[in-house]
Amino acid sequence: MAIHKILTLGDPILREKSQPVKKITPHILKLLDNLADTMYEAPGVGLAAPQIGVLKRVIVVDVGEGLTELINPEIIAATGQEVGPEGCLSIPGTQGEVPRAAEVTVRGLDRHGKLREIAAEGLYARALQHEIDHLDGILFIDKVVRWLENKPEER
Ligand code: ZN
Repeated sequence: MAIHKILTLGDPILREKSQPVKKITPHILKLLDNLADTMYEAPGVGLAAPQIGVLKRVIVVDVGEGLTELINPEIIAATGQEVGPEGCLSIPGTQGEVPRAAEVTVRGLDRHGKLREIAAEGLYARALQHEIDHLDGILFIDKVVRWLENKPEER
């Protein structure tokens, strides 16, 4: 079990683009474990590798229906739109309403290198979109249409 420090707004790493994983090594498996440990400890419903300082395309999500681990995740289909509240472990104390696709299909590799396709809706779809955005240096505050709590200032 390894809990990592979660980088917060203002850290330039959060604005960088993460690199695809070329090979699933023991290092990547450890990264998945550490991401899940850190997410559950926080606690949060999702975490992306750049949030613990690793610029690789790896995310974990658990909205209460079990852990999803994805390597090189991609949104391959998105339909509808829903505006809903979001926060981020990297931007504590801030909440805002963000429009997201209501339903998404996400494709990525699991820890065994098996290609998985996940159809998600509601909070699960929202969390997947939020975490995948992190891999491109995009934060939810970039997409907020209405602030609910503490509009942050990025330095
Ligand atoms: Zn986040």
